[in-house]
Amino acid sequence: MTPSPAIHSTATRLPAIVSTLPQLRAAVAAARQEGRTIGLVPTMGALHAGHVSLVEASLQAGHFTVVTIFVNPTQFAPHEDFAKYPRTLAEDQAALGQAGADLIYAPAAEEVYPPGHSTTVNPPAVAERWEGERRPGHFRGVATVVLKLLLSAQPDVAYFGQKDYQQTCVIRQLVADLDVPTAIEVRPTIREPDGLAMSSRNRYLSGPQRQQALALSRALAQAGRRHERGERDASRLMQGMRDELSAAGVTQVDYAVVVDAQTLEPLQQIERPAVALVAATVGATRLIDNLLLGK
Ligand code: AMP
Repeated sequence: MTPSPAIHSTATRLPAIVSTLPQLRAAVAAARQEGRTIGLVPTMGALHAGHVSLVEASLQAGHFTVVTIFVNPTQFAPHEDFAKYPRTLAEDQAALGQAGADLIYAPAAEEVYPPGHSTTVNPPAVAERWEGERRPGHFRGVATVVLKLLLSAQPDVAYFGQKDYQQTCVIRQLVADLDVPTAIEVRPTIREPDGLAMSSRNRYLSGPQRQQALALSRALAQAGRRHERGERDASRLMQGMRDELSAAGVTQVDYAVVVDAQTLEPLQQIERPAVALVAATVGATRLIDNLLLGK
């Protein structure tokens, strides 16, 4: 008897892709009908192991897991990389099939922002410094699209990466302030073996630039070690971070700071949980990374 090809197939089931809000709502309603809870993983696609870790967290919690893939135009400033941001939907669908995600929502820009759309979310105070200062309008775009996605899918839990630390602060505050009935879960940053935080933008880096980019995670790790050994003077830790970056030839540093982990306000002495934040441009690629410093 000839075995059925299916028995030998290693192909995984590809999650369905829907692109309209009614389709998303129908799929979520069907899952709810079956008694499922809903987990949402918002992304801009070009997926890597960091994104997949969020999907796995949602699946492990037993949720019907919806991944959104939407390169949100409103969170990019005019001079930023919106047009050239990587778009790899077929590969993303395959990776999500491997991971076991249930559904992909990949709307067109007009689905999210139909003609006449004019309401936006004014982001909370924690959006003001750092990324907010360097990327005017960015967090307004993030807050608006995240609220829309939360209202669209109405998940029980939404998953975000610590990689975008300030974004997680903005989203937690937004959800608290606007009584959004979704739990926000923040998962650790997934790194390459050499320490580089995974990012869809890493693919822009040449070999030598990638080597230089390692200075970001090295600077953070150094701050972490010194903090563990008892250093509590934020300015000394920040000087160490700047030294590490400049030794590697990373000169376009937007910020390399140690700040309050909750408010993101500058600190002198570290007496509460703090976070080291760094943003720098290597070649033409802007990178961010961070490390939590416990008490
Ligand atoms: P993005 O596609 O860059 O908008 O990211 C989508 C989600 O994945 C956000 O919640 C990010 O914080 C998260 N993410 C991105 N990179 C990583 C990483 N290296 N580790 C964990 N989560 C990540």
